[in-house]
Amino acid sequence: MFHISTASLPSPEEIHSLVKEYGYVPLEPPPTLDLFAEIERLKKAKNAIILAHYYQDADIQDIADFVGDSLQLSQKAAETQADMIIFAGVHFMAETAKILNPDKKVVIPDLNAGCSLSDSCPPEAFAAFKQRYPGYKVVSYINTSAAIKAMSDIIVTSSNAVPIVQALPSDWRIIFAPDKNLGAYVMKKTGREMVLWEGVCMVHTIFSYQKVRALRAQYPEAELIAHPECEPALLELADFIGSTTGLLNYVIKSPKRQFIVATEPGILHQMRKAAPDKELIPAPTEYSCSCNTCPHMKLNTLEKIYNALYYEAPEIALSPELMEAARRPIERMLEMSRQLGLISK
Ligand code: SF4
Repeated sequence: MFHISTASLPSPEEIHSLVKEYGYVPLEPPPTLDLFAEIERLKKAKNAIILAHYYQDADIQDIADFVGDSLQLSQKAAETQADMIIFAGVHFMAETAKILNPDKKVVIPDLNAGCSLSDSCPPEAFAAFKQRYPGYKVVSYINTSAAIKAMSDIIVTSSNAVPIVQALPSDWRIIFAPDKNLGAYVMKKTGREMVLWEGVCMVHTIFSYQKVRALRAQYPEAELIAHPECEPALLELADFIGSTTGLLNYVIKSPKRQFIVATEPGILHQMRKAAPDKELIPAPTEYSCSCNTCPHMKLNTLEKIYNALYYEAPEIALSPELMEAARRPIERMLEMSRQLGLISK
């Protein structure tokens, strides 16, 4: 992963060209360095904050100042007093943090950390799709690029999609993008018709319906808990459907002791910390592999986070016009979430 040793410190121009070539700073940290201690020291020295998504590796979650799902992270990003945000997540999340903090430096450890769901909705194709439905409002899941957010009327996350869509004016005709499974789930829960963009998450659609059924027979006492990005047939089997935070809270509060968990397994770290007495069984996939692990999220490592803090690169850069257009629907989401009591004031 690291291609260059740090015999002498590179100049900012050299860092810039390395980032352009690799998408991250490919420099080996000094081998004797205590990365955990050094990351703590740099955070204080630079007034920086590390925000990490639940799907990050356990060591990254443990050095973060805040760990959460997309809604919580965007709220934290909007509130922070730090001068620099290191965003340990994927690209659209770091973009969201930048859009909410245009004057702050937002750094992502690896620019290659994309998202199959966000990538399934290219801006040109979506603009053409939108034109087919004149007068429709666009409700977009937060897992979209800044360009798609700029074409949206309001953003939602898996935590707030159902109550927000429920509360939207009844005369709104709605396009929902990009996740068709979350969209179908929201339609079912709210009874509202929506036109769905046909995107999916490569991680949540790979769970095996047949193997999950077999596992339920093997563990009759276990509850199946699933993220709404999973396929509708699997959701039909679930005892509880919720966002990543929703699933975490369910495991903590439920009197049950065993859970089959159908989402990215990074969340198991927080579940184990918060409810060490519960047994967590990752839902099996179609294949004999760890393919329900998000390959994009897992591009971030402790070494890349150290480099991101030390070299302050790669930085998220967006045009002021794009940020302005993308900020409005995100702020609408945060405002509605406050009004609905989903987040604190
Ligand atoms: S888990 Fe799915 S939706 Fe989340 S970042 Fe990975 S590919 Fe995107």
